[in-house]
Amino acid sequence: MRLLLMGPPGAGKGTQAKVVSQKFGIPAISTGDIFRMNVANKTELGVEAQRYMDAGEYVPDSVTNAMVRDRLGEEDAKAGFLLDGYPRTLAQVEELDTILREYGYELDAVVALTADEDELVARLLKRAQIEGRSDDTEEVVRRRQQLYTEQTAPLLDVYRERGLLVDVDGIGDVEAVTGRILEGLGKAG
Ligand code: AMP
Repeated sequence: MRLLLMGPPGAGKGTQAKVVSQKFGIPAISTGDIFRMNVANKTELGVEAQRYMDAGEYVPDSVTNAMVRDRLGEEDAKAGFLLDGYPRTLAQVEELDTILREYGYELDAVVALTADEDELVARLLKRAQIEGRSDDTEEVVRRRQQLYTEQTAPLLDVYRERGLLVDVDGIGDVEAVTGRILEGLGKAG
């Protein structure tokens, strides 16, 4: 199974990525998590990425693409993978197409979690209190939503045209949403 999980910030991508990838026995690859790990370990990549993340901006494509290329080349990705939070720009879609072609992989489906924006901002601000993420302040949260709408939402049409998109209502408890994703994939496959 080779999947992308898309949706606006706060839609529950991270949580669903973990649950769904476990069900399929494939790694969940989250670019946000990889960046955060690098920030925590103060690697060169982390130092580069942090200023963008703290401002709610996207890390430049060149940095992000190289990281994903390396990660998808690892042994465990041969069994399949679920990409969470990538691609986010049209240039990333093109690069992903190239990477997949080179590795001989094909996507099975793109799951898009949908949710109302006000609900998402409220969720993210709540998460900010619980997790203390430095990019969960109100200003940054709004910037991340705006970037999603401008740069990432258009990618859904690309994948819809390719017949890969599975829209899933992201509002509800974790199990309910997981159920909808699995049902949607059953229908898609
Ligand atoms: P996330 O945990 O997916 O919300 O990602 C947290 C932050 O990491 C984002 O706000 C971006 O700054 C950065 N990031 C994650 N994935 C990408 C990506 N595909 N392209 C650019 N920046 C990204």
